[in-house]
Amino acid sequence: MKYYDKLIFELSKEGRTGYSLPASKWEEPFQLPEELRRDEDPMLPQVSEVDVVRHYTNLSQMNFGVDTGFYPLGSCTMKYNPKINEEIAALPGFQGLHPLQPSSTVQGALDVFDGLEKSLCAITGMAGFTFSPCAGAHGELTGLMIMRSYHMSRGDSGRTRIIVPDSAHGTNPASAAVCGLEVVEVKSTPEGLVDVNDLKPLLDDTIAGIMMTNPNTLGLFEKEIGEIAKLVHDCGGLLYYDGANMNPLVGVARPGDMGFDILHLNLHKTFSTPHGGGGPGSGPVGVAKSLLPFLPVPSMEEDVDERSAGVVSGFRGNFGVMLRAYAYILMLGRENVKQVGPLATLNANYIKESLKDCYKLPIPSICKHEFVFDGLLYDGSRKEEGDTPARSGATTLDVAKRLLDYGFHAPTIYFPLLFHQAIMIEPTETESKETIDLFIETMRKIAAEAAEDPAILQGAPHNTPIGRPDETAAARHPVLRYKG
Ligand SMILES: *Cc1c(COP(=O)(O)O)cnc(C)c1O
Repeated sequence: MKYYDKLIFELSKEGRTGYSLPASKWEEPFQLPEELRRDEDPMLPQVSEVDVVRHYTNLSQMNFGVDTGFYPLGSCTMKYNPKINEEIAALPGFQGLHPLQPSSTVQGALDVFDGLEKSLCAITGMAGFTFSPCAGAHGELTGLMIMRSYHMSRGDSGRTRIIVPDSAHGTNPASAAVCGLEVVEVKSTPEGLVDVNDLKPLLDDTIAGIMMTNPNTLGLFEKEIGEIAKLVHDCGGLLYYDGANMNPLVGVARPGDMGFDILHLNLHKTFSTPHGGGGPGSGPVGVAKSLLPFLPVPSMEEDVDERSAGVVSGFRGNFGVMLRAYAYILMLGRENVKQVGPLATLNANYIKESLKDCYKLPIPSICKHEFVFDGLLYDGSRKEEGDTPARSGATTLDVAKRLLDYGFHAPTIYFPLLFHQAIMIEPTETESKETIDLFIETMRKIAAEAAEDPAILQGAPHNTPIGRPDETAAARHPVLRYKG
């Protein structure tokens, strides 16, 4: 056991101090009223300053973050979050705001909403946004509520079904179900794109719309989007765009121009604000002009439109996340923002092409910001051609665990479900060629290890605080309290 495996309370020694308050200079110090005082002293650890510094510094190093190293987690867009974003979100004038302040005192903050809305409209091709939703999935639910309000306002109450591709992110069908919609699945072609022939027979007057992401979860651009938009609109449905990972499109193409009517963005992915670990998020929802009256309240308008989808969260969402996103957009500026998509796409294709002789590449076409391998090309289960496998070879899980030994975060694994050994890699645009080259070199080294001696991979990771937890047990029976 390392000494920092202990809780700070276990490091406590009676009478040890790290900081002492100055002696009171008043003869009779102020006393809190009796009824406000504690019955007992608070339970605080008694530790020295160096104990505290080492404890928390060591704890912070037991985790992996985008500030620690390369984090190619597909469908998560773990791009670097510039520190100026943090500084701006921490400005006292912003940090101390209260949502119930009189509006005359928050004009600057409202100006931020306005500026961010205009920027996002320019980037996505939508006509207006709501910032109320606090996460991507919350944005999906809000968008679907807007869709429902739209159909209801036209007396079109029979549209209770929504089409979702089989490659969709899991939150799409879940949000649809929460919204009371029945999910109809549309299949993918062998090339990984929505099968238009499978779509056509599904379209009728019970369809509220379709939820799509483009590029899709395989990192592939849906080339038939124009045709799909026409088919869905012709049957009276709307197109919903899951823009959680809009990274590859930023500065290149706009969902609004592809025929999408409603979308959400994940500011905590695409627009460089920290995420993971359940921290605050922001899933603003943008709509086409004809849907503006259906946006939730409160809005910047004084009057509430009776067609509004209603209230979806307290106040106006997570303002700190919006500040970070706005700082990021302004820092890049109108010209540099155009490089985000192309660089994210270039980096992903560079890795894909550099590794496809070691890892199975089920879909070889040009990808956008991410792509999927289907495990190792040669997993070491056979020594020579014609040998019967003497032992089980290295799996995707083993490759992922071995990467941790080399100081990289693992890619997304076993998702999407279309492939049995999926490894989903998304480098983002914020990495240098040197970092990406080192990752490629490491992935090649791991492939060579797997061929030589898969046991090295199967025993990995060899030097992280936790190796291979029983993930099912951890999910089903989480131990949430410390047992000394
Ligand atoms: C992350 C993600 C979501 C969900 O976003 P949350 O903020 O985690 O709710 C939805 N769709 C896609 C494609 C995503 O990558």
